[in-house]
Order: sequence, then structure tokens, then C-alpha cells
Amino acid sequence: MTNAGCPHLEAVSNVKLPARRECEECVKLGDRWVHLRTCQTCGATLCCDSSPNRHASKHARQSHHPVIASAEPGERWLYCYPDEAFAEY
Ligand SMILES: [Zn+2]
Ligand SMILES: [Zn+2]
Ligand SMILES: [Zn+2]
Repeated sequence: MTNAGCPHLEAVSNVKLPARRECEECVKLGDRWVHLRTCQTCGATLCCDSSPNRHASKHARQSHHPVIASAEPGERWLYCYPDEAFAEY
């Protein structure tokens, strides 16, 4: 694990992967998303900032769950919202 001096990223030892390839909030709304992210605190899979609802960002702000991982196949990176830090794994 590389890191950018972010304690939240350093705390992730086992990266949580998406249980389902869909944004759980968009599914409830019947809405669409662009990319998926998985919360590394609670495992929720939510949509990215390019998606109309930006559920992953909203979740991070409201729940104070700092770190997400890309849930896109072939992408292996983490992002911390409060520190705006990226790490590949
Ligand atoms: Zn952080
Ligand atoms: Zn969504
Ligand atoms: Zn969460």
C-alpha cells in the first residue's frame, strides 16, 4: 500500500470490494450512475462525483466515513475525502 501521509488511508488494511455492482441509493430512486465507489468504513457501494446524485460524496460528508475505493473493475485505488488523498493498492 502506498500512501500520501493520510492516516485514514494508512488504516485500510483489507480493501472492501463492492457486494453488488450498483449504487444502493440510486437503485432506490430508480436513478442512474456513472461509476461506483465502495465506502471503506461500512462497505456501502455508492455512485461517484460524475454521477448526478454523487451519493458517495454525500455519504462521506454525512456519515464521516472518510475513505472510498473505486468499485470499477481493474481500478485499484483509494481516496480520502477529508484529506483529498489518493493511494493505489
Ligand atoms: Zn485521510
Ligand atoms: Zn447513487
Ligand atoms: Zn460508509
